[in-house]
Amino acid sequence: MLGRSHLLVGAAGYLTVGQAMIHYANHRPLTPGELVAGTVVCAGAAMLPDIDHPNATVSRALGPVTWFASRAASRLFGGHRVGTHSLPFAALMSLLVAYGLAHVHSQILAFFLCFFFTSLCVRVMTEADGAVCAVISAGVASAMIMGAPGHQWLADAIGLGCLLHIAADGVTTEGICLMWPLSREKVRFPICGNTGGMRERGVAICAGLLTVWFYAHLVILPNLFH
Ligand SMILES: [Zn+2]
Repeated sequence: MLGRSHLLVGAAGYLTVGQAMIHYANHRPLTPGELVAGTVVCAGAAMLPDIDHPNATVSRALGPVTWFASRAASRLFGGHRVGTHSLPFAALMSLLVAYGLAHVHSQILAFFLCFFFTSLCVRVMTEADGAVCAVISAGVASAMIMGAPGHQWLADAIGLGCLLHIAADGVTTEGICLMWPLSREKVRFPICGNTGGMRERGVAICAGLLTVWFYAHLVILPNLFH
């Protein structure tokens, strides 16, 4: 799928199945701040697995830094739609973020992650240039850190974003290597057809409508108009 489709699937997936799963796993509902911040981070993280492709938005996000990261990821994970499109990769990202937030400068790392994934969303949705994306994303990331001070939601949102990307690519013709490195066999249920096709656009529109609906009912109506 294309970057914008992944973004919308990531946002819709977080607001529907994702927040319900996190609620069940953590034995408490997400706060309004976590819900808003988690939706943005999950939408951005839903583009992360395409770091294995040099032309993907995530690979061009931070110039030479993400270009080298893309080259390294492609070699390390076996090329496009192989290792980064597997369940072990999603688990690894979630665990790495959780470990980093617990043992490294947590506020700085949390800010960087919020900034990075927000900038991906801003770039894909607005096609603004790098400086504009950076200014907007820095402001939004600061608000996220203040509005959602814990860090578990961040690791959950990133892991879930990767899972949603894998699921979305799994229903295209090209498929994914779900169980890499145990197996390189492609898994595919091509109900969405080819990447960028009409069926993918339909899925993206449905995901956008679901995002608006659930955002209104989970965030805006209960907190602003109760
Ligand atoms: Zn992909």
